[in-house]
Amino acid sequence: MTKIIDGKKVSTEIKEELKKDIDRLKKDGSRVPGLAVVIVGENPASKVYVNSKVKSCEYLGIYSEKYSLDSEISEEELLNLIEKLNKKDEIDGILVQLPLPKHIDDDKVIESIAPEKDVDGFHPINLGKLVTGKAKFKSCTPYGIMELLKRYEVNLSGKDVVIIGRSNIVGKPLSIMMTNESATVTLCHSKTKNLIEKTQNADIIVVAIGVEKFLTKDMVKNGSIVIDVGINRTSTGKLCGDVDFENVSEKTSLITPVPGGVGPMTIAMLMKNTVKSRFEKNKKEVEKWK
Ligand code: NAD
Repeated sequence: MTKIIDGKKVSTEIKEELKKDIDRLKKDGSRVPGLAVVIVGENPASKVYVNSKVKSCEYLGIYSEKYSLDSEISEEELLNLIEKLNKKDEIDGILVQLPLPKHIDDDKVIESIAPEKDVDGFHPINLGKLVTGKAKFKSCTPYGIMELLKRYEVNLSGKDVVIIGRSNIVGKPLSIMMTNESATVTLCHSKTKNLIEKTQNADIIVVAIGVEKFLTKDMVKNGSIVIDVGINRTSTGKLCGDVDFENVSEKTSLITPVPGGVGPMTIAMLMKNTVKSRFEKNKKEVEKWK
């Protein structure tokens, strides 16, 4: 019988742990963590994501600043805003919601965020340090997947993992995080040959491609663990993942649903990174007074 990984429950547990940390700061009369969220344009999905991030901040007692910028804003104006936020003491984390309008270079914007405020973990310095296991911030979605596996007591050491999808925000960083935990990782993508041979031999399969019901029952072995990152809308408007959940779950030992699996973890880990950033600064402040 498969067990369903409850991302909603785990993300709530993490938020409650963070709330305690923040309450402790409040009690001590210390400054609470601060997150700046920047959104450019009117992308409806981006608006939903940004609003839920701001709502999570409110719930936890994290100070937040939301900047909703016109889609016509110049790259220079956006870079100037980030420069200001980099210097602002009340702000511990800066998040720029992607994608940005075409006339703005995503990479240039990400690289302009101070690495010590890069709570999304997308800055090349944080991505590079991931390789040595020393990143200050880990990208939130793969970090959330690692946390889910940890809390469901999945030991990655020696496991054969197949990740489908090699994006810079999910597949690639996850492959490094899992390698650091001694898994043997095969990172697959649209040019991969004989994908089914690889997935059929995998102990753990992660699918992050954005194709509805891509992973089917014949592609997985009995007892495997399946993590579904995809977020798709069916023709009837229902949310669904990249895994044919109903049939694949007949063979798995553990599986994440969509919604309620990886999704809620992404925001929880963003909050965790923001709180971490605040506490790291606290350490520096304390050291200054020694
Ligand atoms: P992306 O959209 O940038 O890239 C897609 C990747 O999938 C590419 O590496 C491509 O090679 C691969 N791919 C596409 N079709 C394939 C096929 N038929 N066979 C094998 N590989 C194929 O990736 P992304 O930004 O990581 O997004 C992937 C999915 O994950 C999307 O549905 C996205 O909405 C979702 N997502 C969810 C969260 C979350 O919090 N749950 C976070 C990020 C992304």
